Amino acid sequence: MSHPVDLVVRGGTIVTPGGSSRADLAVEGGRISAIEPDLAGLAAGAREVIDATGLIVLPGIVDVHTHTRVASDAEPDRFFQDSVAAAFGGTTTFLAFNNPGTGSSPAAERSLVAGLTEWRAATSSDAAVDYAVSLAISGRMDDPVGELAAIVDSGVPTAKAFMVFDFRLDNARLFEAIRTMGRRGGRLEVHCEDPVLIDTAVAGALARGDTAPRFHASSRPALAETVATARTMAFAEAADAPVHVVHLSSSGALEAVRAAKARGVRASAETCPHYLALTDARYLDPDDAEVAKVVISPPLRSVADRDAMWTGLADGSLDLVATDHVPDRVAVEKRVSGVPFDKISNGAPGIETLLAIAWSEGVATGRITAERLVELLSAAPARFFGLSSKGVLARGRDADLVLFDPAARRTIRAAELHHTSDYTAFEGLAVSGAVRSVFVRGRAVIRDGLFVGQRGYGQFVERRISD
Ligand SMILES: [Zn+2]
Repeated sequence: MSHPVDLVVRGGTIVTPGGSSRADLAVEGGRISAIEPDLAGLAAGAREVIDATGLIVLPGIVDVHTHTRVASDAEPDRFFQDSVAAAFGGTTTFLAFNNPGTGSSPAAERSLVAGLTEWRAATSSDAAVDYAVSLAISGRMDDPVGELAAIVDSGVPTAKAFMVFDFRLDNARLFEAIRTMGRRGGRLEVHCEDPVLIDTAVAGALARGDTAPRFHASSRPALAETVATARTMAFAEAADAPVHVVHLSSSGALEAVRAAKARGVRASAETCPHYLALTDARYLDPDDAEVAKVVISPPLRSVADRDAMWTGLADGSLDLVATDHVPDRVAVEKRVSGVPFDKISNGAPGIETLLAIAWSEGVATGRITAERLVELLSAAPARFFGLSSKGVLARGRDADLVLFDPAARRTIRAAELHHTSDYTAFEGLAVSGAVRSVFVRGRAVIRDGLFVGQRGYGQFVERRISD
């Protein structure tokens, strides 16, 4: 042996999409250097040995959908603190969106390239775990579709377009964006809801005086998501380009993706923990402030839709789970009291609870296997979003590791979370399993439940999607 290895994790159950086994795992230079049944020889000379007996070793979670906010003068720790929350939850790489309309400069509001430059500078020394960016396309920009090739070439091969909201792309530009991204080796992400159906329903509700938060949900019916998803599938098919459906929530939209995949459309789709663990019963709460916490788009759906999401994750119709983390605070960004529902900021936090929900509601209940979980939370997001060094426990990959105790029991409480929101929609939910330790490129970020990482250790990851 020429030199000692940095770390050997011994006796844990290593989980990969293809199977699980008791094995030792060695780390050298930030990468996984060996996975073998017994690495006692390497362990004898290693700088550090961790006994993982009774624990499960998962690849670090890759969350490809967050609206994590950058630091500002008033809140210099905003990005860092959400990256710490990610680490506590077992997420070792997250994608954030630059979020037009949340404090970016006038230049960044008009240009994707300017927005990318600004976002990179604002986040360059803040993160505790690895991170990347996907760009939100605003229809108010000067020529966002014309800029897509440049952003793909600069290592950002995904961008998200919206079919709704006042920064939407119209159908013609949406189709062109899907085609442009595909030709350049990128993948457009699409928020699929139909603007005509939703704008009409919202206007009708407001005209009737139905302004309470619960009318947010009733004015965004599943049908609006179904028809928009079907149109996106048709656009991808006609353009012969890949496309990614973000935050899919309903069975009709799932059917549209399933049918498209069956006829060869290169579609991928994600759902989110809130659609897997919560239902529209939340909108019946008589307390408007509680309802406002789940004013999200698409809204929470029926029990049948929730069950359909699990079926889709198990049968491959859905490819991955991501959080759509929005760290809004009830009294600050959400602006709940005294405003009609259409003025409440959309979104809910989730960066810290992805693995907890997916494991407890999925693996512990038997809806999916642990092997399927690491595909959905790590391998597939890394593959579809061009993070080739991430997502799988295999020789040569980054040593992003989660030591997970499946026997632990805990209750999710906002007071115990670390994100920059002030609530969780999962308050009081009992979950099985707990993150014990987390490593990013071989270095401990969480050790025995405590944060031991460093601000700025997290690296920006340039991405390239391979077919
Ligand atoms: Zn989003």
